Amino acid sequence: MTASSARTHAPSAAADPAHYLRIEGVRKEFDGFVAVDDVSLDIRKGEIFALLGGSGSGKSTLLRCLAGFERPTRGRIVLDGEVMNERPPYERPINMMFQSYALFPHMSVEQNIAFGLKQDGLAKDAIGRRVGEMLELVQLGKLARRKPHQLSGGQQQRVALARSLAKGPKLLLLDEPMGALDKKLRSRMQLELVNIIEQSGVTCVMVTHDQEEAMTMATRIAVMDQGWIQQVGRPDDIYEQPASRFVAGFIGSVNLIEGAIEEDRPEYVVLRTGDFPAPIYIGHGITGYEGQPVAFALRPEKVHIGKDEPPGDSNKARGTVEDIAYFGSHSVFHVRLPSGAKILANFANMKRWDSDGITWNDPVWVSWGEDDGVVLTA
Ligand code: ADP
Ligand code: MG
Repeated sequence: MTASSARTHAPSAAADPAHYLRIEGVRKEFDGFVAVDDVSLDIRKGEIFALLGGSGSGKSTLLRCLAGFERPTRGRIVLDGEVMNERPPYERPINMMFQSYALFPHMSVEQNIAFGLKQDGLAKDAIGRRVGEMLELVQLGKLARRKPHQLSGGQQQRVALARSLAKGPKLLLLDEPMGALDKKLRSRMQLELVNIIEQSGVTCVMVTHDQEEAMTMATRIAVMDQGWIQQVGRPDDIYEQPASRFVAGFIGSVNLIEGAIEEDRPEYVVLRTGDFPAPIYIGHGITGYEGQPVAFALRPEKVHIGKDEPPGDSNKARGTVEDIAYFGSHSVFHVRLPSGAKILANFANMKRWDSDGITWNDPVWVSWGEDDGVVLTA
């Protein structure tokens, strides 16, 4: 690869922005153990795409296949119309950002950023210009001469990002990018990274086990489990319309109540559960059949809690307050039902010292609207 092609990466004739990165039936086995199981994904140009899953779900292995550090057992990886499978990592227009400690400690910020460009034999003034652009992008111009140990964790992260973007890769890969940062810095850096990535226009695939991080940073998320993609969607799709019990339980907090479809009409559905004496009324049709076992997924912030019995004869249950977890912005009430099931109900603390006077051991009613929950058949 010549220095100029490394820097500009001209789009190929086959470029299609909706399928900029195609992962086609990629499988990765280690001695017969399947770490990634026939994953197919299309990632758009300029997208920040998150692979989200628990430890061991195959996220890093898939990312390493994209980078070229692992060879897929089967399947193809196509970036901007070009098949990547046979190319070694250094010949792919792809950069993987390692955590901040991968900076060269004896080099200044600008030397760190210039490193890859120098290796490619770029002319000195071209390097100077590019480093200047990168310093501006990550807003570290004033700290260009500092060494990594003279920077905060967040600043080191930005240098690492600038170094990764310096050669203008077509694809940026991030593996648990905030792993080394504390919680407060992490949430600030998530937004900073998104801004920088969006400004640079690079397409990005990131790996995280942290659902808040995925929801904050990504345009779309693939939820992975045991090498499989469980669901792909925008953060709000995945949260509000999970496709399975696994996804509903993995993303955020949820009440999952097992039951069956009692009445299945085109315009509404009624569920019966062992936990609620009253039926669950869903204000729209679903794909299912009467008698089908399903789960009802209800987010705690959709549950209303009160002392008085709500009107109507569905979508409510009586219980007792067992625990109250105070989170400042809201409190989570743990309500024990006579069946033994527990329902979580959030209460937004919009006024100080206010929770409608509900406290431990109080008998309460929980209730929800006809479109507030999701019926899960998987
Ligand atoms: P994640 O990043 O989601 O935590 P990984 O992709 O690192 O998961 O690993 C997925 C599975 O593949 C794990 O069970 C892990 O032990 C296994 N694995 C990963 N790399 C190797 C390897 N080089 N040799 C054998 N097994 C591996
Ligand atoms: Mg990993």
